[in-house]
Amino acid sequence: MANVLIVGAGISGLVAACYAAKAGHQVKVLSYGQGALTVAGGIIDLYGYDQNGNLVTDPLEHIATLPKPHPYALVGTKRVEEAIEAFKELTASQNYIYVGDGHHNQKVPTAIGSFKPSCLIPPSVESDAIFERPKIVVVGFELLKDYYPKLIAKNLQHFFGDKKEVSIKQVMLHWPSGRNYRDVSALDIARELETDLGRLNFVEQLKGACGPDTALIIPPVLGERPELSASIQKDLEQRLNTKLVEVSSIPPSVTGLRLDKLLRNACFSLGVDIVEKAQVIGFTSQADEVANLEANKVPTASKVCRTLITGGFGHTHEYKADAVIVATGGFFSSGLVTQMGRMYEPIFGLEIKVPEDQKDWSHQYLFCGKPQPFASYGVAVNENLQPVDPTGEVVLSNVQFIGRSLQGYDFCFEKSGNGVAITTAYHAVKQLDEILAQTKALSDSLF
Ligand SMILES: Cc1cc2nc3c(=O)[nH]c(=O)nc-3n(C[C@H](O)[C@H](O)[C@H](O)COP(=O)(O)OP(=O)(O)OC[C@H]3O[C@@H](n4cnc5c(N)ncnc54)[C@H](O)[C@@H]3O)c2cc1C
Repeated sequence: MANVLIVGAGISGLVAACYAAKAGHQVKVLSYGQGALTVAGGIIDLYGYDQNGNLVTDPLEHIATLPKPHPYALVGTKRVEEAIEAFKELTASQNYIYVGDGHHNQKVPTAIGSFKPSCLIPPSVESDAIFERPKIVVVGFELLKDYYPKLIAKNLQHFFGDKKEVSIKQVMLHWPSGRNYRDVSALDIARELETDLGRLNFVEQLKGACGPDTALIIPPVLGERPELSASIQKDLEQRLNTKLVEVSSIPPSVTGLRLDKLLRNACFSLGVDIVEKAQVIGFTSQADEVANLEANKVPTASKVCRTLITGGFGHTHEYKADAVIVATGGFFSSGLVTQMGRMYEPIFGLEIKVPEDQKDWSHQYLFCGKPQPFASYGVAVNENLQPVDPTGEVVLSNVQFIGRSLQGYDFCFEKSGNGVAITTAYHAVKQLDEILAQTKALSDSLF
């Protein structure tokens, strides 16, 4: 059993923590904030669009054609398939079912009335009813911020033309605190729909507006707690005799927060220790120890990370590590940092290869229909996800990188963000025994 430290509590860190704990390791997660699940949908995109922007019909088949250093190419298609199954098993064990597989992109409705491709989705965003039923009713909630039923209805009507009747129904949920206090978010309504009164209110106001020929489109409000979501949906659908479809996300992302909650519950039941507000600011390595012992004998090749140092609130703390999995995300979460002409990974001080002229980091127009170069800058790793230098030499033997901080893919253009996160998390844990053996051999050779 090894002492495994995971840095970051986004999807990749939490998923890796669950798998490492299941594999029998002692696992601690160090994190100073929540990851992108708070704003991003809790749906697992595997691969939506190819480099020319064409929709990919069979993601797994397409993944097999990708060149290195794309993370999928480094871990191999078989690992991607295994990771999908492992993720479905993990989430089902917490009473939240993901439907879909790696061979099909499903059409997920968005908050602007379009459809985006994604592979693994909760049943609440399954859109079959929108295509199969003749009528669509878009439900709006009074006071709900950043959700525009008229826009959704307009775009859906445009999409379906005369083939469907699209109408809008506004629900006035009783919301005393929201009226004079603050904006109402989807999370507030999701919490209200966990109550009997909230559901009664919803049903009473919609019962004349829908039926078995209707698909009712709603913001993501079918409960905050993942384990309640399916039963809330079933209850409302039975009472309204209709089909409810959640749009994928509006921030704060309720579907993302459901997954976040689920993964934290799973970590808790597997004995993972999550240390919050712990910002990792540095590390000590075996090279430092050797340097202290014999001033002139500093190894030039692979280092071994001994401890991670957290800082903040006026004091530092050191955590011992046999292995470290770094899941610190990209620019959004500070896993990657940029300065004029430079990009680096801040914990281990790894330089990220970028073009000298910053103008070459991006296309002039953000939405130019091409992958943006800067989006795929990140930490260079080998097939074990260990960081490597420009010659391909491993620079930290017992450290692996997973998720968004990796180089070689543009999650936003491809639609592959959470797919890469769960796959690399799974692969990192599968490679742990090899990493630990390599590190032991390296340590033995140094002393
Ligand atoms: C707006 C938006 C919408 C998206 N929608 C989708 C979608 O619908 N489907 C999809 O598949 N993907 C989507 N993505 C992409 C997906 O969210 C990311 O690919 C995924 O979150 C990456 O997960 P991660 O765990 O690698 O990083 P993050 O989720 O960014 O987590 C990083 C974690 O590391 C912590 N951290 C960072 N530095 C340190 C440090 N020094 N010490 C301690 N902790 C640290 C952070 O606080 C955080 O907890 C979306 C992304 C965005 C931004």
